Amino acid sequence: MIDVQNRGYFEQHGCRFTAVIPTNIFGPHDNFNIEDGHVLPGLIHKVYLAKQTGSALTVWGTGKPRRQFIYSLDLARLFLWVLREYEEVEPIILSVSEEDEVSIKEAADAIVEAMDFRGELIFDTTKADGQFKKTASNAKLRRYLPGFQFTPFRQAVQETCAWFRANYASARK
Ligand code: GDP
Repeated sequence: MIDVQNRGYFEQHGCRFTAVIPTNIFGPHDNFNIEDGHVLPGLIHKVYLAKQTGSALTVWGTGKPRRQFIYSLDLARLFLWVLREYEEVEPIILSVSEEDEVSIKEAADAIVEAMDFRGELIFDTTKADGQFKKTASNAKLRRYLPGFQFTPFRQAVQETCAWFRANYASARK
């Protein structure tokens, strides 16, 4: 609806408002609530608790669905570029490349490594997998910014886990 509104403002008033479409965002200051947070912060919080209680990590679904995750700090840099340089009304997808899509199991493995979790992983297949893939093309972004360097996924997961551990008391959870 924001896109429809932006087109209307352009056609009627010549305003150049635009919209951005990010994929699955994660990073420091996220909502780490297990029930209503997104998958990465939810799993980070679950691993944190599983380590404390010596219990297993329960991953919802089969672990097979694939997602493109974008680190909030990378997205913030792209937001600033959009504000300053991007002149189109047409929305722009802000996403890592299609080759950088990871499975939920790979995402869980990255968290397990970052948190040095030695316990068991259980895939709870009574929980829904949801859509298998939601692959988005970042070809347009790459045409504008061919040299933009995304933070490597494992490094971004490590930084997010480190932030959560250091800010557990005040984190949104
Ligand atoms: P979300 O908005 O981050 O929950 O993203 P999606 O609904 O697009 O995909 C989340 C995927 O991760 C689904 O396949 C879930 O079954 C899976 N998943 C595994 N463990 C968890 C978890 O602890 N929390 C969430 N939110 N999803 C999980």
